Amino acid sequence: MTDFIYLDHSATTPTDPRVVEALLPFLTELYGNPSSLHSAGKTAGAALEAARATIARVLNCSPTELIFTSGGTESDNLALRGVAAAQQARGRGAHIISTAVEHHAVYDVLKDMAEHGFDVTFLPVDQYGRVTAQQVIDALRADTILVSVMYANNEVGSLNPIAEIGAELRQRRVPFHVDAVQAPGLLSLDVQALNVDLLSLSAHKFYGVKGIGLLYVRRAIPLQPQLLGGTQQAHRRAGTEPVALIVALARALELAEAERTDTVARLLPLRDDVIRRILETIPEAALTGHPTDRLPGHTSFALRGLNGDSLLLDLNEVGIGASGGSACTTGQQEPSHVLVAMGVDPDRLMGQVRFVLGKHSTPEHVDKLVYHLTALAQRHRAMIPNMG
Ligand code: PLP
Repeated sequence: MTDFIYLDHSATTPTDPRVVEALLPFLTELYGNPSSLHSAGKTAGAALEAARATIARVLNCSPTELIFTSGGTESDNLALRGVAAAQQARGRGAHIISTAVEHHAVYDVLKDMAEHGFDVTFLPVDQYGRVTAQQVIDALRADTILVSVMYANNEVGSLNPIAEIGAELRQRRVPFHVDAVQAPGLLSLDVQALNVDLLSLSAHKFYGVKGIGLLYVRRAIPLQPQLLGGTQQAHRRAGTEPVALIVALARALELAEAERTDTVARLLPLRDDVIRRILETIPEAALTGHPTDRLPGHTSFALRGLNGDSLLLDLNEVGIGASGGSACTTGQQEPSHVLVAMGVDPDRLMGQVRFVLGKHSTPEHVDKLVYHLTALAQRHRAMIPNMG
């Protein structure tokens, strides 16, 4: 994979060797179950607590407010179903507010909940895929039990005004969940400054490993566990804690936060270079998402009349790995619900491509991307009647 140019950092990231180093001892000599009373268990338990403390420092929360899960999808499921069930049990209503552009880990859960007694408002978004705090306020009702708005959109990179929305909801005492899966290492995760009550993360998105995520839950927020069968994690998520993965998550998050300013400073000019050059050289290309209020490193386009998936397959042939929208829906022939909600022209919907730079991306990668994509777009254009 040495010559392979990886431009899909929203889908996943390579594990940082420093994370592997932190993890390995917990796969070999430090194998204890943190619930065991003997010294092997105690060592594992101490590592777990140290990891909690590290993460709590980055999130500016208490270590007891963290629940480890299997990843972003489980964190989102737990947040939505857990809060909704707890609120409903207290007779507080069944109305939930979210947006039309959430990742499927939120969107599909809420659609399912809407079929099972909950009333869900999916807020429309602007042309860039964002909502405003005013829209959230206007949608609030006396029976609203939860609001869920993503921090940064995985398909188009746009950012939502989380701190502003959170401040309004805090005043009105409505629990606020944020899917922040795309944020670590790029945006602040300070849950106090952001005014969020629940926050989902997934370690493989920030140079950690797959199979581990976390949900921050503010102490006062009622949450009904969704996995039963053990007393771990204060009864909120049963199952033996995967200590090695948790240690790895803590190390990855600590590094992501420590290096965030440098990473952003390096990524911003690369991102803007990709956007400028692709818009200049490919006449079919329109940027999707906001030009500047977007994730550093994230670029995404909708190409008029061209097929994004076939372009990406051809790009792979020349050694460049990228995706259309969400990696989880690749291969589907349906247009992205995100682009549809943003009102993207129908003749651009199948031309979705996304190039997301990461820590190891270089100006040379950008040159190669622009060179190959321009040539491929020309070839594809020539193959389409009335377009060449
Ligand atoms: N939320 C967002 C915004 C994502 O981008 C993803 C993954 O792409 C998820 C949730 C789900 O995370 P995971 O696949 O790690 O469960």
